[in-house]
Amino acid sequence: MKNVFQYTDEKFADLQLLHYKVEGFEELTLKQKKLIYYLSEAALYGRDILFDQNGKYNLRIRKMLEAIYTLNGIDRKTDDFIAMEIYLKRIWFSNGIHHHYSYDKFNPGFSADYLRSLITMVEPKKLPLQIGQSVDDFCEEIFPVIFDPTIDAKKLNQSEGEDLLLTSASNYYDGVSQSEAESFYEAQKDSTDKTPVMYGLNSRLVKEMGVLKEKVWKSGGLYAEAIDKILYWLKKAKDVAENEKQAVVIQELIEFYETGNLKKFDEYSILWVKDVESRIDFNNGFIETYGDPLGFKASWESIVNFKDLVATHRTDVISKNAQWFEDHSPVDSRFKKKNVKGVSAKVITAAILSGDLYPASAIGINLPNSNWIRSVHGSKSVTIGNLTDAYKKAAHGNGFMKEFVYSQTERELIDKYDDLTDDLHTDLHECLGHGSGVLLPSTDPDALKSYGATIEEARADLFGLYYMGDSKLVDLNLLPNREAYKAQYYTYMMNGLMTQLVRIDLGKDLEEAHMRNRALIAYWVYDHGKEKNIVEFVKKDSKTFVRINDYMALRCLFGDLLAEIQRIKSEGDYESAKKLVEKYAVKIDPVLHKEIKGRYEKLNLSPYKGFINPKYIAERDKDGDLKDVKIFYGESFTEQMLRYGRDYSTLPPIND
Ligand code: ZN
Repeated sequence: MKNVFQYTDEKFADLQLLHYKVEGFEELTLKQKKLIYYLSEAALYGRDILFDQNGKYNLRIRKMLEAIYTLNGIDRKTDDFIAMEIYLKRIWFSNGIHHHYSYDKFNPGFSADYLRSLITMVEPKKLPLQIGQSVDDFCEEIFPVIFDPTIDAKKLNQSEGEDLLLTSASNYYDGVSQSEAESFYEAQKDSTDKTPVMYGLNSRLVKEMGVLKEKVWKSGGLYAEAIDKILYWLKKAKDVAENEKQAVVIQELIEFYETGNLKKFDEYSILWVKDVESRIDFNNGFIETYGDPLGFKASWESIVNFKDLVATHRTDVISKNAQWFEDHSPVDSRFKKKNVKGVSAKVITAAILSGDLYPASAIGINLPNSNWIRSVHGSKSVTIGNLTDAYKKAAHGNGFMKEFVYSQTERELIDKYDDLTDDLHTDLHECLGHGSGVLLPSTDPDALKSYGATIEEARADLFGLYYMGDSKLVDLNLLPNREAYKAQYYTYMMNGLMTQLVRIDLGKDLEEAHMRNRALIAYWVYDHGKEKNIVEFVKKDSKTFVRINDYMALRCLFGDLLAEIQRIKSEGDYESAKKLVEKYAVKIDPVLHKEIKGRYEKLNLSPYKGFINPKYIAERDKDGDLKDVKIFYGESFTEQMLRYGRDYSTLPPIND
């Protein structure tokens, strides 16, 4: 294995794995490298938590398949084996048996008899059996989960009108109905509390002997085995913190993991937001709530990173002008922030990804998620430069733009400006979009319920789109001229109207919040600009293309929709949110869908991408002290997954 940096690695199913480069790591001081190393160990030791959160059979199925996969002397060339290998790789990628984006359960593609024949070759002590369970009983219990498509069919069900908890396979609730969970958390709400914790964030809600109770994820609680490992490495990290402020932040996080107290988590979050000087930064915890249909429970994730000093200049300029952007937005003045506070932004270089950020990762992050902390203390916003770079390098010249972009004119715009405008749109989305606007004092922050995430993403995207076409960005030297924004408008509309559909199976609806948001925006402006033919679908050689006839009029429509979306959010207007999302962002035109998928398939590209982490190698002197940390890029996805399964497997197969 050579330590060469590769841009692309393997492809399987609908996935492609990319290596990302940690530019600048070698130039860090030894103390900084140690900090990154300890934090990356803390990141990797939490990985099993997400598997269990995503479904209660995931760890057992993964461990069983890994035991089979590493058997000696099995024929690795048969169709059954190849199908099983792909199934295992997809489980590794999704952190469970459901697709990471569509939430549908994977079809294994091999037979139960085949699996049984392999299981009998594994030493029983290497199988994740329950105490006293025979191998036959194990198969009896697990096989329906793998092979029966009606069992645990969806990780996350968001279909209006069904019980979203009882029909979702994720492991955030056990034996609890949607209405029971809703009233459980409704009862905890205190409308006079100006600083409410995020109820339910770090626990599983279960019903035992008819009584609802929370099993808290903490040291001494649920997931303690993983959390204690995380704590061990966080304590080491604290000793090499860059400064006192950062040491206190780490200490607060340690205390949160030790107590499970959500007030502690808020205290940690506030200190974390205020630490903007440290070069190295990280998240490690229960952060995003997309995986819970009710939006209470947070999946576990971690990222360790350090500031990219050059690129951060761009986001600094945006942040410094945050108040100008807020004041000039097309939103009703009642819904604007009078003082935009603490919009800090930076471009970071990811050093390790784990949990819900691995292998598929966000490219921009804005935290914390607590509404009151955001409005009182602000939020920290980042774009992850080395991940977007890896995406761009992989996309370069893959034939996609040639197939889907209307004409040479648009292609030239995209070639010239798309990399730049795409970064800028992400910055605007993260630094300004999510942080803008206020709720009316009487509005319940959870009023939009299952539509909340889509509306929030649409709000942030629209804020970015609206300003992308503003001459202010040229004045600030963020865009070179008044043409560049068109590249972003074109690719955004093309994606929202057509090309994001390549990620969806025929016959399925849009489910994921970011995808729904893009469709919502694109189809709303298409619809409202129809009369003036602002955006249109055009046929060429029986292929469908998007053409934008009036870019400035399109900008006005983005502004109109931003004003309406902000009103919905500020007033907590559930009915309007529902109407908008259901009308524009869920259903797909089956004819267009089929055409787009067909054209895309001919290009032989993978709709989803994920990342392979670098490997950090600690070099120690003869006393065992760390004397250097080396970075290694040569690991394949399978090698990495087997190593993580071997070295970072913290949780027992069953956690309850
Ligand atoms: Zn966002």
